[in-house]
Amino acid sequence: MTDAQAAHGAETRLGIGVSPGTAYGPVVQVAPPVAAPAGEAAPADPEAALEDVKAAFASVADDLEGRARHADDTAQQILKATALIAKDKGLHKAAGKQLAAGKGPANAISAAVDEYAAQFEALGGYFAERVTDLRDVGSRAIAAVLGKPAPGVPSFTEPSVIVAEDLAPAETATLDRSLVVGIITQAGGRTSHTAILAAQMGIPAVVQCPAATEIPVGTRVAVDGDSGEVTLSPSGEFVDGLRERRERRAAALTATSGEGRTSDGFHVALLANIGGIKDAEEAGPQDLEGVGLFRTEFVFLSSDKAPTVEQQTDIYSKVFAPFPGRRVVVRTLDAGADKPLAFADLGPEENPALGRRGLRLSAERPDLLDAQLEALSHAMKATGADVRVMAPMVATAEEADWFSRRVRENGLPKAGVMIEVPGAALRTEHVLRDCDFGSLGTNDLAQYTMAADRMQGELSDLLDPWQPAVLDVIKAACDGAAKIGKPMGVCGEAGGDPLLALVLVGLGVQSLSMAPSKVPMVRFALSLHSLAECQGIAATALAARTAREAMQAVHGVVHDDLRALV
Ligand code: PEP
Ligand code: MG
Repeated sequence: MTDAQAAHGAETRLGIGVSPGTAYGPVVQVAPPVAAPAGEAAPADPEAALEDVKAAFASVADDLEGRARHADDTAQQILKATALIAKDKGLHKAAGKQLAAGKGPANAISAAVDEYAAQFEALGGYFAERVTDLRDVGSRAIAAVLGKPAPGVPSFTEPSVIVAEDLAPAETATLDRSLVVGIITQAGGRTSHTAILAAQMGIPAVVQCPAATEIPVGTRVAVDGDSGEVTLSPSGEFVDGLRERRERRAAALTATSGEGRTSDGFHVALLANIGGIKDAEEAGPQDLEGVGLFRTEFVFLSSDKAPTVEQQTDIYSKVFAPFPGRRVVVRTLDAGADKPLAFADLGPEENPALGRRGLRLSAERPDLLDAQLEALSHAMKATGADVRVMAPMVATAEEADWFSRRVRENGLPKAGVMIEVPGAALRTEHVLRDCDFGSLGTNDLAQYTMAADRMQGELSDLLDPWQPAVLDVIKAACDGAAKIGKPMGVCGEAGGDPLLALVLVGLGVQSLSMAPSKVPMVRFALSLHSLAECQGIAATALAARTAREAMQAVHGVVHDDLRALV
């Protein structure tokens, strides 16, 4: 708690800021899931009851698909993927079995969902992560079969702060941006769907906020998406301070524009992370140099058949169209683990995050990679975008060589690799030899360096990119690339943290890609420091023993004007 808050008796809870900016408003608690009632009567006619259950699932699927039609790309894919769960025939069949065994409709749905959830959890990785979506579908179907209102965000008319245990992607994706001023969750992690979507939507957000769900509805709260502080019933003076800070921040951010540059003119390209056509159309007119990460798998999350070259050419052309002559870094399908694609499924694995994902999958299904590269080449020629193609999950020099050869054989001029496996990060001097660039995926790099599953919110401290070991690995990756004169960028969430951005530039990074809402603050931070100062800031971070000490030490040495805003 800061002195100002303590002086006014306000209670502050510290979570993790995942989407920048500040907000103030009354709390709207997301309605908890509807439970199946105890003592529900067995159906007189199980067959007829199954039809009711199927109708409930169908209405859930319809609702999700309807919302998908009005959502942005990333949101749209997530909603469609969740609707697919509601349509899953196996799930309906499992509920039918429970009805036949004498359970009432709501309890049959609940038992079928439990059974499925246990299977998903046993599979681990992406499937375990989908348990939240599965339970959300189950809860909506139970509400539908009982004729109750759907769980989730209630309707409200005043600009408010949404609070939940964790937001299902479907809920985050469909929030009304004009009414939701902030988001707080009790669970969730730095790279969870909530975090990525909130930043994409430009809504300040804090995850891992202690006892958030116990904050009474209507309580006025202040949300600081930078520091992670949530202040309950703050004084008028505190709120005024917050407003002033927001205004100072807006003024500071509009004072800088154009290319990212340090105060002595060192160029750092500021780029957008996107997930599809709508994201590209929104990012195109913004003040940024292009796209640093197009997550192509997001476009196909709900496809059950591999898209044809023609279909892909059409999509990529629309993504590239807002960027003629500008950089668009495309990542080839990063399927598997947290982002599986139905048409690229190689079967269950014990540890999907360590399995045949990313480029490893392309090695087994080169047809998928070749179709994608061919489509990218057509779309590049049609739009004149400066297309660069990179591979996910590269671990060795052979993989990098294989990929860059295939990229060039398809007439694409620039090939790169994501550096998100520590084994590759330590050997960039060799891994990047036949490539044009490297791009640090700090989300996975932190996961693999610290041996902490990025989907587990409770492990957020280990996944903190300020962890000195992660910074050491980044330094090694930058040093190796510099030795052979290959540019290194960052496209993980770390690139959007203004303090960490200074560290990364000091370590040798030449481009930073992030949710577009994070670009102005990073541009401002860079403009206040010379390259030599960034190098000094990086040395300060590397000298720390813990993640917290690293962040605090850097906070203590940056320019006053930046410290006043973060
Ligand atoms: C990363 O791992 O940092 C990254 C940018 O890729 P994704 O989050 O899509 O795995
Ligand atoms: Mg990754």
